[in-house]
Amino acid sequence: LKKPSKIQSLKLKSFLATNNFPPPPFEYLVTISNSHSIIKNPTNNKEVNYRVCRSSNIAFKIPTFQKIYRHEILSKKEIKKAARLLIKHHEPFVPDLKSMELPLKDMSKGVQCPACKAFGMQHIHGSWLCRECGNLSKDAHLSAIRDYFHLYGDSIKNKDLRDFLMVDSAPQAKRILQSLDLIQTGTNKGRVYRPSNNFFY
Ligand SMILES: [Zn+2]
Repeated sequence: LKKPSKIQSLKLKSFLATNNFPPPPFEYLVTISNSHSIIKNPTNNKEVNYRVCRSSNIAFKIPTFQKIYRHEILSKKEIKKAARLLIKHHEPFVPDLKSMELPLKDMSKGVQCPACKAFGMQHIHGSWLCRECGNLSKDAHLSAIRDYFHLYGDSIKNKDLRDFLMVDSAPQAKRILQSLDLIQTGTNKGRVYRPSNNFFY
């Protein structure tokens, strides 16, 4: 937890330097926003005591810093200028799902009903039947397979599809896979399906 905060403060430092602001002293805090989290510090580490706090306690930490740093380095006007510059340089965060390593066992499996959002539609006679609301869908599996590619890489095997969509039979899974516009390589059990460029649109 502490390391990312330190890196963030270093990045801010270099951002200010490249934009010709005088370097202010840097302090960073690690705040815990989840009020149910328990902060443990069994070795009573000073650094942890100093930097880690609940977000509700930030206001009580600031006066400590104000006591340590008494000289004004950036005027209010300069701080506002830096804030505007930071907003101007903001880039939206695009999470890299693969790096999150979501274990397959923790995912909601099965095809989700487009009507009532329940998982676990049954594949019967080429259609998906929702056991919760009775909705029938021809293409409810598409979004599940797109999710699979986004989360677990750009290839799927018959067995992966059976596992993720909760389809029992291999021939049934094969029919589903071959009905999609996927690129196929390999044979039999080793056959791999990959999305074509237009699969996600
Ligand atoms: Zn339903």
